[in-house]
Amino acid sequence: MSSPSEESIVASARRLVIKVGSSLVTNDGRGIDHAAVARWAEQIVILSKAGRQVALVSSGAIAEGMQRLGWTSRPSAIHELQAAAAVGQMGLVQAYEVAFSRFGFHTAQILLTHEDLADRRRYLNARSTLMTLLGLSVIPIINENDTVTTDEIKVGDNDTLGALVTNLIEADVLVLLTDQQGLHTGDPRKDAAATLLRRGRAGDAALEAIAGGAGSQHGQGGMLTKVLAAKRAARSGASTVIADGREPDVLTRLAAGEVIGTELIAEAMTLAARKQWLANHVRVEGRLTLDPGAVRALTREGKSLLPIGVSACQGRFERGEIVGCFDIDGREIARGLINYSVSETQRILGKPSSEIESTLGYVDERELIHRDNLVLL
Ligand code: GLU
Repeated sequence: MSSPSEESIVASARRLVIKVGSSLVTNDGRGIDHAAVARWAEQIVILSKAGRQVALVSSGAIAEGMQRLGWTSRPSAIHELQAAAAVGQMGLVQAYEVAFSRFGFHTAQILLTHEDLADRRRYLNARSTLMTLLGLSVIPIINENDTVTTDEIKVGDNDTLGALVTNLIEADVLVLLTDQQGLHTGDPRKDAAATLLRRGRAGDAALEAIAGGAGSQHGQGGMLTKVLAAKRAARSGASTVIADGREPDVLTRLAAGEVIGTELIAEAMTLAARKQWLANHVRVEGRLTLDPGAVRALTREGKSLLPIGVSACQGRFERGEIVGCFDIDGREIARGLINYSVSETQRILGKPSSEIESTLGYVDERELIHRDNLVLL
């Protein structure tokens, strides 16, 4: 038996984001490695059946597109990269769909752009969709929407995208599967003394210095983007594992507690950073007045804000914008990202959540502001 400190952080993770890099998915650019895809699918199915939620971020669209189009070197023209991504994405999702359907699992294609994640309304929409899929045990297959993004507005690499998705769905762990064992203390190709780092602190600047270098010709990530992705993932409290995706049963072994590769641990202060972001907004787009019961629910019981606890609302805000929550004496007690626009809020305030649907004709969320998107002041 291993002691808790020797147990992989994946063991206790309930919600995971797993990212597989282009070199792995496409067998170093030789076309989709269906056997590898089948192995990951089988392992993810085991995790899912054990009650874990898994979202998969997969690279490989451009590499697969190049292969299908018979291009031997990565084009530099953006429209050619976009065309290759469009062709390759077909093969990618098809491979996952086939692999997961063998186990009776559905997959869902999610293509995201930087703008989807920067705009809070779209961010919350993407979040709701992903959470719904995870709740249905569907495996989201996520990639950047390369066809509509250009360099200036790109996330750019899927390590970062994996971290953004980790933040988005508040996953416990981000697993970056790559073609290397993990993070080494130096470049193992040049430095014989370089050893594999087993555990580090996400956000430690010293790791950025040792990670150096760029990516391969097939994908965009390198060790540095992985270290930076770990730092980003840690902002929502998630730790990151960097491990070799060719390691047999890597996912199920990690989940069983085996330490494989490098673990970059998120520290407790990181969760507060996200809340800090909310609290630091200088401008709120609207004001909600809460009845004393709702004030108590928020401040003492750690609950979400429901429409029934709100007696008035002012301002101009859309879904996903920041509103202030005030008590009846006009004191701001909390801030958060609201799930409904001002006109929708006006219609549902004071009502039980069960009446949202009959009032608006649809229901996005039963909370007006979810606890995860709320900070007490
Ligand atoms: N989105 C790119 C693709 O699927 C990969 C980006 C990356 O390699 O990180 O081809």
